[in-house]
Parts: sequence; C-alpha cells; structure tokens
Amino acid sequence: MNTTASKRKCEISAQTSIHWFRHGQRLHDNPALLDALDGCDTLYPVFIFDGQVAGTDTAGYNRWRFLLESLEDLDRQFQKHGGRLYVFKGDPVVVLKNLFKEWGVTKLTIEQDPEPIWQDRDCRVKSLCEDEGVTCVEKISHTLWNPHVIIKLNGGLPPVTYMLFNQVARSTGKPDRPVGDPDFTKVKLPVSDNHSEQFGVPSLADMGVKPECKEQDDRINKWMGGETKALELLESRLKLEAEAFEKNIFLPNQHQVDLIGSPMSLSAYLRFGCVSVRKFYWGIQDTYVKLKGKDAPLSATAQLMWREYFYTMSLNNINYNKVENNPICLKINWIKDDKKLERWLQGETGFPWIDAIMKQLRAEGWVHQAARHAVACFLTRGDLWLSWEDGLKVFYKYLLDADWSVCAGNWMWVASSAFEDVLQCPKCFCPVRYGIRMDPKGAYIRRYLPVLKEMPLRYLFQPWKAPLEVQEAAGCIVGKDYPSPMVDHMLAAKVNRKKMMDIKEIMKTDTGKQYCAPVNQTEVGQFAFLQELTDPSNTCLSDVTCQALNVQECM
Ligand code: FAD
Ligand code: MG
Repeated sequence: MNTTASKRKCEISAQTSIHWFRHGQRLHDNPALLDALDGCDTLYPVFIFDGQVAGTDTAGYNRWRFLLESLEDLDRQFQKHGGRLYVFKGDPVVVLKNLFKEWGVTKLTIEQDPEPIWQDRDCRVKSLCEDEGVTCVEKISHTLWNPHVIIKLNGGLPPVTYMLFNQVARSTGKPDRPVGDPDFTKVKLPVSDNHSEQFGVPSLADMGVKPECKEQDDRINKWMGGETKALELLESRLKLEAEAFEKNIFLPNQHQVDLIGSPMSLSAYLRFGCVSVRKFYWGIQDTYVKLKGKDAPLSATAQLMWREYFYTMSLNNINYNKVENNPICLKINWIKDDKKLERWLQGETGFPWIDAIMKQLRAEGWVHQAARHAVACFLTRGDLWLSWEDGLKVFYKYLLDADWSVCAGNWMWVASSAFEDVLQCPKCFCPVRYGIRMDPKGAYIRRYLPVLKEMPLRYLFQPWKAPLEVQEAAGCIVGKDYPSPMVDHMLAAKVNRKKMMDIKEIMKTDTGKQYCAPVNQTEVGQFAFLQELTDPSNTCLSDVTCQALNVQECM
C-alpha cells in the first residue's frame, strides 16, 4: 500500500465527529456533545448562520448581541481545551455536506430543537447524513421531557390543559438528571491557521446588525450572553431559591417582584441553552430536599413546567404563532391600527407604567413577567383591542428570551385566545393601579421615563390628572413633554369586556373548537403568578386588577 493510500485508510478508520450547536450553547449537560466524543478521535464544534438559526430571522440588536456573546463564550471555552468553534454561513445541508467530505466526518450530533419550525431543516440534514453514511445522533436536553413521548402517552394529542400536561409528564417519571462534563483530553480539536478570519465568531457589524436607538448601547441592565455568565447567575439564583424556601416562599422571582434590582432571570440563557433546564430544575429540587428533607412540591418548579407545556403544545402545530389555521386559537375580531401599535411600541401610550415597560423592553431586551402581562393585556383585550400577533412580533424582536413557542403561547393566554377560558379570568390589568402595586415608589417609572422624574408620586402613574402648576413645576407638560393617554381606560375596559362576554356566549354553542383552557381559577393564578388568585383566603382582587364593571374610577 502506498503512503497516500495508507494515509487515506487511516483517515477512513478514524472517527471524526461534528457537534452542531444551534440552541444548547453550552458544554455542561450536553448529552449530544458527549455522544460526539464517544469513540471519537477528532471533534469539530460547529455553528452555522442560515438566516434563521436560534431565532435570528426575527431578532433585534439586543438578542443578536446576546447570541454572539454566547458563541464567543463557547469559542473561549474550546480554546481552553486547545480547540476553537467553527462558524459558517449558509444552508446547513450544503455546509455540512462539504464538511463531511473535507473532514472525513463519521458522526454528526445535535440537540433536539423541539419547535416545529426546525423540523424541515433537521429532516433535510438527517436525510443528508443517511445519503452520506454519516451517523446522526439527536439527544433531548432543551426540555425536561421528550415532548414526542408526552404526546404519544396522551394518545397522540397534546395534553390541552396545563394540569393534564403535568399529569402526563409526571407519569413518565422525573426528568433525567444532567450528564457529566465533556472530557476533551482524548480527542483532537483541530484549529486552522487563520481560524479567526475564516471561522471566527462574526461581529455585529459583520452581520449588519445595528442599534435602533442609543439606549440599546447605553442600557442600564447589561445582559451578557454565554454559559459562563449563565452558570454564575444560576449559582446566585439557587441561593435566592434557598432563602425563599426558608421563608416558605416559592418562585421568588415572581412573588418578590423587584423591577429595578439587578437581573436574576435565567430565561434568555434557557432560551439559547447556555444553561441546562435540567441543571436548573434539579438545582431547585436538590436545594429544597437539602433544606426540608423532602421532595419539593410542584409549585417550586411550576414556571419550568409552563415552558415545557408550551413547547409540547406547539410540537405539531406549525401555525401555533398565528391566529389563522391554528386549531387552538380563538379567532377574535381584533382591529388593525398601525398608529396605535406604534405608540404602544414606542412607549408613548400616555400611561407611564406601560410606557416605562416598553422603553425597558426596547433598550434592554428583558422585562419582568408582571410587566409583560401588563403591556400584553393593554395591547389586546384590556385597552387597544389589537391582535396578539402584532404584539408577538414586537416581543420576538426585542426580548432576549423570545422563543417561537413560549412567546406565542403566553400571548395567546394573555389575549384570552387560548389556554385561558375566555373570561374565567375576566379581569384586565389596570394600567394605573397594577403599576402602583408593582412599583410603589415609582422608581421604575422614573428610571425608564426620565421626563417624569420630577412628577410627584401622587400623579406619577396618571400625570394627566396633575394640575397644570404641578406639571410646570415637574418640568413635564402632559400633551407636550409627555403624551396624553391614548385611550380612556375605564371606557375601553368596559367595552372590551362586553366583547369578550359576547365571544363567550358564541362559544357556548360552538362545540367544534379544540379550545384549551385552564381547569380552574388556581391555574389561572399560577399562570399569571398572582398570589391573590392562588390563595383562596385572599378574595380581594381589586387592588391588582380592574374589574371594569364594578370599578367606577381608576384611582
Ligand atoms: P422564573 O420565574 O425564574 O422562571 C424560570 C424559567 O421558567 C424562565 O426563565 C422561563 O424559561 C420559564 N417560564 C417562566 N414563566 C413562564 C411562562 N409564563 N411561560 C413559559 N415559560 C415560563 N418566557 C420566555 O422564556 N420566552 C418568551 O418568549 C416569553 N414570552 C412571554 C410573553 C408574554 C406576553 C408573557 C406574559 C410572558 C412571556 N414569557 C416568556 C414568560 C415569562 O415572562 C418569562 O419566562 C419570565 O419573565 C422570565 O423571568 P425569570 O427567568 O425570572 O422567570
Ligand atoms: Mg429564569
């Protein structure tokens, strides 16, 4: 055998793996990455920009930045092991086909991307692997359970209520524990000579992504993408969970709403897979067991179950993020009004609580769950009666954690279009009183709406009620320096509630709809994380929500 032939033989018998990152942007608890290393001599970690991967088709500046930071973090971690991340642009089938040949690849490993929008891509890549004789291994670690298994167990249909979902999921046993860290000591991690120029993580400028406004660069809360940051945050988060358990509180991020404290959310990290959901889940469970000597109740990880639920519900529904042809979504006659939508988006509704949230969303990319409820309700069934699809597009662009299915699921819920039995929860979030409740000192509003900095607290949430001399003294004239309210909330809430009630009447006779709804009031409360609704001893709702028919005046 000549040397070229023997070299080729040796190359052929060598096991070369590509681990293709899409979500799952981490080294820890990455079963597909471990499989790539199994029996492998050479490993190539790869990421491919194809115009859609990880939600880049809808992402605005902040999410792009977060993604590139996460990839840079991955690259730095591979560098510590003597390797690099390889970044490409193009159709994954074309890119991978070339790489299979060039690198003599024998195995491709991926983490399952459960949302239906990724199915076409992954089917095409799997069939490429078959054609090229490359073993393709797909592992589940973006979710706690395999959503396909849940649906199969439920007789081929998604479990339509959250409670049913919980029952089915739990019947399959507890989620798997995280797997161990990868060991790169026995593999080659090739690096090319001019790696950074050829295969390095691109910059925002390379990708043609620019900030829309200066606030996106001067932001106060500077979220930073990547596994390293995610694991630091997880550690602090578990300390917070432990402190809460000591006080018999669950879901501390929801129940101790801190709108201006430093961000403690893991949602963007979960979205990109910089932190493993199983590590988070078991971190909470183990913290509880250590403190209390028994298993944690469902409510300790309820928020992660909502995430699973929405992924499972969307699994076989490509129209899940639309009103049309979406079998679970109610078709409500929302109005189309681009001017109103624009005012909402720009934070110019004239309701400081709503506007501050929209300003924070655009500048920083993350707002609290309570804040999301407030602006989503205001846009849809609360005040403006615009379609949740319009709001969803805005959230898709600006939220760091915007997930195709989780975001759509939440919007349908808030807009009473699915998951929420129309007006089992008839309250809309009052854009004045809900704000006062969440931001009692007004610090949040003053931070994100500096124009209202000097407005006395008494009028801060409804400055149009301030006498002119107060407005003058505060340096903020309503209608000139800050907009007048774009809607009469009390009137709108009353009219919209009537519309919802009419829909409810129609639904009584429309039995053809596969409509999903919560099983009871507690579930509604759990979704909105409203203590008042989950705690039966507390019947007073009026300070949180505005029951439009009963309340004569907001404040
Ligand atoms: P925690 O309470 O710490 O929750 C931990 C994790 O559980 C979150 O990081 C998230 O992954 C998951 N989770 C929490 N609440 C929900 C929920 N209601 N539905 C599904 N999963 C949940 N969350 C997203 O992750 N992506 C989205 O695109 C998204 N869009 C939303 C849109 C609207 C209109 C609303 C009302 C909520 C949306 N949420 C979304 C849910 C929720 O607001 C965020 O997950 C939460 O604010 C993140 O903060 P946290 O990490 O402190 O939450
Ligand atoms: Mg979180």
